[in-house]
Amino acid sequence: MSATTYDIIITGAGPAGSTCALALKKSGLRVALVDKEKFPRDKICGDAVSSIAKRILRQIDPQLEIDLLDFAPKTNITKAKLYSPAFESIEIAFSKVGHCIRRMDFDHWLFEKACTAHPKLSLYLQQAVKQVIQENGTNKVLLQNGQLLQAPLLIACDGAHSVAAKKLGNMTVNRKHYSGAVRQYYRNIKGLEGNALEVYFLKGFLPGYFWIFPLSNGEANIGFGMLSETIAKQKIDLKQSLKDIINNIPQVAERFEHAEALDEIKGFGLPLGSKKYAISGNGFMLCGDAASLIDPFSGEGIETAMESGKFAAEQAMRCFKEQKFSAKYMKAYDERVYKKMWPNFRNHYILQRFLGKRIWLINSLISIGNIPFINKRIPKLFY
Ligand SMILES: Cc1cc2nc3c(=O)[nH]c(=O)nc-3n(C[C@H](O)[C@H](O)[C@H](O)COP(=O)(O)OP(=O)(O)OC[C@H]3O[C@@H](n4cnc5c(N)ncnc54)[C@H](O)[C@@H]3O)c2cc1C
Repeated sequence: MSATTYDIIITGAGPAGSTCALALKKSGLRVALVDKEKFPRDKICGDAVSSIAKRILRQIDPQLEIDLLDFAPKTNITKAKLYSPAFESIEIAFSKVGHCIRRMDFDHWLFEKACTAHPKLSLYLQQAVKQVIQENGTNKVLLQNGQLLQAPLLIACDGAHSVAAKKLGNMTVNRKHYSGAVRQYYRNIKGLEGNALEVYFLKGFLPGYFWIFPLSNGEANIGFGMLSETIAKQKIDLKQSLKDIINNIPQVAERFEHAEALDEIKGFGLPLGSKKYAISGNGFMLCGDAASLIDPFSGEGIETAMESGKFAAEQAMRCFKEQKFSAKYMKAYDERVYKKMWPNFRNHYILQRFLGKRIWLINSLISIGNIPFINKRIPKLFY
């Protein structure tokens, strides 16, 4: 079967893939961007886009940040409110404004930015990658419709169930370093603050957290997530847990008295960055969820997906300049990703393991955190 040849094939056009394509716009390289969906498409998520996403966009092109700020369907997030099992709360003010944007909108916006005026981009939408094969120094990607693409470089951004990560990176699910979470959209939640992320550590639902994140139009993204190891050991039904939280915990139930669910509860996995993997090899790099780069404490993976996508694009340009695609040459990508992300991942993993089910500790930390001297320093722990 004859194959269509590109310089780079990017599989997946979520935050990692679209950012990678954006960063390759001026490279002059022929890029194929493949996704199993067409855009706009949903992605199960908490929809919290931290301020770091804006920094990454600004580094690619300052106009992108301006355009995102003009983008209508978003809320401006200036603080997080953490609730202890004793229902004491602490407010953490963010030094930079973040946003909540439905992934249906954010990913579409980013995808459009990647495609507009990209002279050498070919799109393959509604085409799932079926197989990835390496042959004679080239990557061959077989699509659902039988089309075959080939390129010396493959950048896998196809999320938590990445075909290339399994085939080329030998990535498997490790429940110690993987979470599961569910999400549902709501309107009319009582007392919703439009600028605050609400995070609850609840007795009977630890280790894990329940969230309420405010969206535009007074709507909210609510959800609950836990480490997969605990879910499996304790046979936890996350969808039922979310229902129990909003129906049976009085302080939460009261807020949902007149609230209306806008969709069904949906779940998805989160490959965490608490374990280092080889995220590149001969002629390929893995980015975002495909590379297991989600923050192990907060569950945030949008900004790390975008940043790894940008780093992969920059590494790709070096590969073509030097005409080097070996696993050894590609290692510079792993080093750059982990140099940037590992200190946070390691600290947040310790926090995740340490707090675990220790209700007294979470209660004490949230009380202590309300002391102004300490409160001012908390954001540094997270960002
Ligand atoms: C319930 C939940 C809540 C979360 N909340 C947050 C949050 O609030 N903030 C945050 O920062 N992160 C959050 N995350 C993590 C975040 O969603 C991911 O880390 C982020 O989406 C990773 O981006 P990505 O581009 O790597 O992958 P994705 O966003 O998953 O994009 C992958 C793309 O690849 C495509 N694809 C998949 N398989 C194939 C295939 N075989 N062939 C072709 N295309 C394919 C998909 O259609 C998709 O477009 C949450 C995750 C979950 C599950």
